[in-house]
Amino acid sequence: MAFLEELWSFDPSFGSAVGRHEYDEFLTIKDKKWKDSFLAFIKKHENRRVVEDEIDNSLIQNFLKESQWELEIFKSYEWDPSEYNVAASFDSIVSNRDLSEEQKSKILKRKLTFVPAYYQAAKENIHHPTKEHLELSIQQTKGLIKFFDAEVLKRANNQPARDAVLDYLAWEEGLLKNPEPVGGFRSFRIGEKLYNEKFAFNMVSTTTPKELYESALRQKKETLKTITTIAKALWSKYFPDKKSPDRDIDVVRKVIEKVSLQHTPAEKFVEEIKKQIPNLEKFVNHHKLITMDPSKPLKVRETPEYQQDATGMSIDSPGVFEPYRETYYNVTPPTKLSKEEQESFLREYNDYTLQILNIHEAVPGHYVQLIYNNQSPSVIKAIFGNGATIEGWAVYAERMMLEAGYGRDTPELSLMYWKWFLRVITNTLIDYGVHTQNLSKEEALRLMMEDAFQEKQEAEGKWNRAKVYQGQLATYFFGFSEIYRLREDLKAKNNNFNLREFHEKFLSYGSAPISTIRSAMINN
Ligand code: ZN
Ligand code: ZN
Repeated sequence: MAFLEELWSFDPSFGSAVGRHEYDEFLTIKDKKWKDSFLAFIKKHENRRVVEDEIDNSLIQNFLKESQWELEIFKSYEWDPSEYNVAASFDSIVSNRDLSEEQKSKILKRKLTFVPAYYQAAKENIHHPTKEHLELSIQQTKGLIKFFDAEVLKRANNQPARDAVLDYLAWEEGLLKNPEPVGGFRSFRIGEKLYNEKFAFNMVSTTTPKELYESALRQKKETLKTITTIAKALWSKYFPDKKSPDRDIDVVRKVIEKVSLQHTPAEKFVEEIKKQIPNLEKFVNHHKLITMDPSKPLKVRETPEYQQDATGMSIDSPGVFEPYRETYYNVTPPTKLSKEEQESFLREYNDYTLQILNIHEAVPGHYVQLIYNNQSPSVIKAIFGNGATIEGWAVYAERMMLEAGYGRDTPELSLMYWKWFLRVITNTLIDYGVHTQNLSKEEALRLMMEDAFQEKQEAEGKWNRAKVYQGQLATYFFGFSEIYRLREDLKAKNNNFNLREFHEKFLSYGSAPISTIRSAMINN
């Protein structure tokens, strides 16, 4: 498609990231020349019909408007030094199983020649950064050097490229001590105006952040009521000879603590996840919730060593141009953590929460959504995927499974589900609070640990995330709310509403914004 080819010609990293491997050997150098040509590209295509399909065209227009806003208004390329990191781009070559070692060396060799110019442009762009993004970048650049040494340079040695990364790191460390050369630090809080604008672009929605925030506050109350009822009913099972505490919140906390002790040992963590996936598939098939493609099995595996940055679980799926590649469920077992951290992690991902996690990541969450996404006849819908649609679907999948009766006879599972959902709600409160309401760290930790029963480690991590990824934490609750609302509206409109059909129709639009899918589905 002419539009995409043109886009990739000056942003080859984008093409490479979506699986067009002829762009693998390049890097996008974000210098002045690049900015000017990107703006010219935007001007040329904005407010025009670029492609025939109306939905595809609206996705392209969203992308152009958002890109323009980022270049001219938001300008994170000036204040977020962590935007400059070539790790993911190099990792996609190193971890590409379709390439021979010889091919890898060849691509890496060429790609490495762009690294000095890449970091030179970075240094020229950075102005008035936030301290938090600088710190994040320093940490990630250190990781990049390790990754270069372990995986890249042994395949294609290039000392100037390594020196350029080391130089960027030294430059960043210098700025941390004295940011005067780049105009000092700015606050990590982006403020209400930019937050609202970013929200509108990310969510493609007329719902305001304030409305979402207020909805989150209401649902927090409701969710706490539900959790309290379940916890009270479980009290005597877990504390048979003990009078329950006076305050409801203490009952909930104690029951959650006790139930969390039921968890798999660290060394069986991967195996346990592997075991659960077929059960979830069986449930989905039996209840006719969505049709699954048996020819695209999910492979649960331990995250490859060099990709293990933090403990966590994620889906590693093929790009839209390489549907033949396998889909992996990467699981980083907590075996490398200290005994204490391990225990905290395993309690968080206890026997019940682990099932919710698997629903979210795999069946019928991200993995199933991504398969439908890549089958979508429109490449545009698959490429310009909307984050709120993707996360919203996974969160919706959790609720939908429970509504279909998953774990119906296990109140512990419901308890942990609602605790998990409370986390989704709280993410929105934190995100909005941090960027528009001057929310302090102390209050944020209180919201998470006291009101939402989270572990300290989890809460601290969330606080750090909210500071550097504006708006991201709100996508989960936003996406869930909008998909749920769409479903209920269609149910009310249609006497023959069929859940499976709704799911398949919804996913057939790829990862288009929910508002776009809504207009298409409500009008058909
Ligand atoms: Zn334990
Ligand atoms: Zn997710």
